[in-house]
Amino acid sequence: MDLNHIKRVGIIGAGTMGQGIAQAIALSGYSVKIYDKDVALLEKGLEIINLNIEKGIKLEKIKEKDGKAALEHIEKISDLEELQADIIIEAIIEQLDIKVKVLKEIEDVNTTSCILASNTSSIPISEIARALKRPENFLGIHFFNPAHIMPLVEVISGVLTSKKTSILGSNFVTSLSKKPVMVKDSPGFIVNRVARHFYLEGLKITEESIADFETVDKLMESTGFKMGPFALMDLIGIDTNFAVTSTIYDAFHQEPRFRPSRLQQQKVIAGHLGRKSRKGFYDYES
Ligand code: NAD
Repeated sequence: MDLNHIKRVGIIGAGTMGQGIAQAIALSGYSVKIYDKDVALLEKGLEIINLNIEKGIKLEKIKEKDGKAALEHIEKISDLEELQADIIIEAIIEQLDIKVKVLKEIEDVNTTSCILASNTSSIPISEIARALKRPENFLGIHFFNPAHIMPLVEVISGVLTSKKTSILGSNFVTSLSKKPVMVKDSPGFIVNRVARHFYLEGLKITEESIADFETVDKLMESTGFKMGPFALMDLIGIDTNFAVTSTIYDAFHQEPRFRPSRLQQQKVIAGHLGRKSRKGFYDYES
């Protein structure tokens, strides 16, 4: 299969990332089917895509006719068996066993030429691939948050990914007017490995009562970062960010520099997950 054969794109998961990925892909003229196991979250995801496109039109970043066409290109799917496409990107919870289960089911209801990709931030692509029937057709396509805005996308080749699949993945990303960077499978790939210390040092400073989290954010923002670590964790989802750190910590054989934060773990336990739950380090109720 080459890029000319890709017309239909499937997205699994209508959460923070699935929404942005679906929007970017629909705006590039592909027809998109988006599936989530939770129908309420699927509806909410579509509402957010609508609002984001409306906002883009108001800000004159999106032409009205393109925005309307994109919305018509997106179809909600509440039954996984109806998710047939040429390329399917999984963007569900950062948990290996759940990702594998869903991808195996998707593989069974699609043709042998279907390309499967994961948007995982940290789970080894080769480990997911190992469980699939056609591991050569599987790769990582790692978008950044917000996916409809951020141009960088890591295209990750696992040990079992074929060269053809990697090149197709990269060409597909380019067709979305985004910037693909080819990366070999390794813990946290490139960006999340480097970024761990941005979050972890911020958390340690707060845990050690050196400064409160607002001060850390203000200082980092005053040096040129668009967001401080705490505002960014709230945007990403504190549960997702914590899961990523935990996976990278284990992948590096419990190297202390990657040790997950207890403060962050407590936020997850309390259900304070960031913007998506209206409360994280900051309060979003108002
Ligand atoms: P999220 O919690 O916002 O959304 C996950 C969605 O997946 C939810 O709507 C949930 O209902 C759905 N889901 C869970 N299990 C499912 C299943 N078995 N079948 C179908 N749907 C299911 O998560 P997110 O932040 O969008 O993260 C998704 C993936 O993207 C993760 O692998 C994460 O590591 C990665 N990622 C996240 C970010 C970020 O900033 N949040 C950035 C890059 C990559």
